[in-house]
Amino acid sequence: MNFEDLKKFFFRKPKNALEGSEDAAPADKPAKEAAIPEKLVEKCEKCGQIILSDELRDNFGICPKCGHYKKIDARARIALCAEQFAELFSEVEGGNPLDFPGYDEKLAALREKTGEKDGVVCGTAVIGGVRCALFSMDYRFQMGSMGHAVGEKIAQTFEYAAANRLPVVGFILSGGARMQEGIISLMQMAKTSAAVAKHSEAGLLYIAVLTDPTTGGVSASFAFEADIIIAEQGALVGFAGPRVIEQTIRQKLPAGFQRAEFLQQKGFVDRIVGRREMPALLASLLQLHSNAGEGEAETFAPASASSAPAAAQTAAPAAKDAPSAAPASENAPAAQTGAASENGGKEVTA
Ligand SMILES: [Zn+2]
Repeated sequence: MNFEDLKKFFFRKPKNALEGSEDAAPADKPAKEAAIPEKLVEKCEKCGQIILSDELRDNFGICPKCGHYKKIDARARIALCAEQFAELFSEVEGGNPLDFPGYDEKLAALREKTGEKDGVVCGTAVIGGVRCALFSMDYRFQMGSMGHAVGEKIAQTFEYAAANRLPVVGFILSGGARMQEGIISLMQMAKTSAAVAKHSEAGLLYIAVLTDPTTGGVSASFAFEADIIIAEQGALVGFAGPRVIEQTIRQKLPAGFQRAEFLQQKGFVDRIVGRREMPALLASLLQLHSNAGEGEAETFAPASASSAPAAAQTAAPAAKDAPSAAPASENAPAAQTGAASENGGKEVTA
């Protein structure tokens, strides 16, 4: 056992499920980790077997031995489900509004490690030939917790979608509100909810995909405000953690409490779906609703356009209807995300 292992052994604190068992506590880890070449093999968190990283990536992060779902990052999730993606609002960046000690350093380390400014990636996408707005939360960024930047980007995505009459697909993963931003993070619940409501009042479709975990202030706001709520199988979905609830009500909770399947039985979730089946389900739901609507949801043949024209299409309405989407930055992020989507699968092993 080397020194690092010993340190981990003696100084570990008990973790709950939301903190994650993988690289979810990057503040304690040196930022230089990002420079270490990709791992060739990794150990399944559930069955403990050694799997080739390539094999795991090609399998959408699903363990080939036991079927366990490893968390996948925001862009890998987009690459899995969308035929095209053009990023929006990539310029939005959070700060340290309360001067929380150590938070600036933590943000800087996470930005360097993940290459993302904060815990959500937003944009327009084409899924099953239907154009939509999309947001995807990233577990690597403080378990997708919602601070100002995350709330702002998600609210802007809904506003953009309402202005351009697009459905919204949200890949949700969050440990809840970001404690380092205190009341500011809690205000994001109201802000995102208001944006969802405006989008809904415009008669537009919102599909939420709850992934493991969806909890706290996110589950208490936009995660459960969707028209259609899909959950990835086995996902932990709830508000407070099971341990906190047990301590508060002094009762043992039933088996499987807060798992997606339990929530479906209780009517909170419309459909449980496996990761492989997710793209086809989203495609069929979007197609169904685009045909049933007023015909304003545009459909594109998936093969007909590269990501560049898609960016041009999104840039024009952005400049007209949503001044917040800085038009000058439209093309650059699109080019970036084209590359990032191709690399998206790789990040599964990060
Ligand atoms: Zn496994």
